[in-house]
Amino acid sequence: MEDDARPAARLTVLSGPSGVGKDSVIELIRARSPWVRLSVSVTTRKMRDYEVDGVHYFFADRSEFERLIAGGQLLEWAEFAGNLYGTPRGPVEGWLREGEPVLLKIDLQGARQVRAAMPEAQLVFLAPPSVEELKRRLVGRGTDDEETIRRRLAHADEELAAEREFDVTVVNDYVERAADELVSLLGSSFLTPLRAD
Ligand code: 5GP
Repeated sequence: MEDDARPAARLTVLSGPSGVGKDSVIELIRARSPWVRLSVSVTTRKMRDYEVDGVHYFFADRSEFERLIAGGQLLEWAEFAGNLYGTPRGPVEGWLREGEPVLLKIDLQGARQVRAAMPEAQLVFLAPPSVEELKRRLVGRGTDDEETIRRRLAHADEELAAEREFDVTVVNDYVERAADELVSLLGSSFLTPLRAD
């Protein structure tokens, strides 16, 4: 009965408003908890200076992205601030079959699609310490042009209001603390129960 005693591998979704610090939390987890399987999304957005193709995202053009949609190769996808983002289905399903914890960093629309397709997924909302702090981070991060910042700010209120749809909220007050809390949430779904024998 050994393996049957283990709960089914759970997919965890990390979502939250743009600028809340999802990327920083993910970077810490990448460095410190290599056992966590991080899904690499496909996007049509332009690559930022510090990004590496195949690590942070797979960068694609619109027609390549549309081929992935048509071929059923994305678990979910969404348009965000004028760009397309999607989760490749193959790696996620493979890891889950092998019982490995999988973490997706996706936007609210994607989280809703995962909720509908896989109700057993754990949805974690990364919240800012305050709305003012979120807006300050969005304007200050220096990676986006004015129009992009405006679109991300407009989207932030809608994203903040979605917190109640999530199973758990983690407040990103300190990135290290938030990453530890998230990792403990991932780990807790994979504890092997004590065996009777
Ligand atoms: P950014 O351009 O700042 O890297 O990401 C913009 C937004 O797209 C973020 O909220 C991010 O979580 C979301 N995102 C990244 N990858 C995916 C994905 O595969 N699917 C969906 N639905 N959203 C994604």
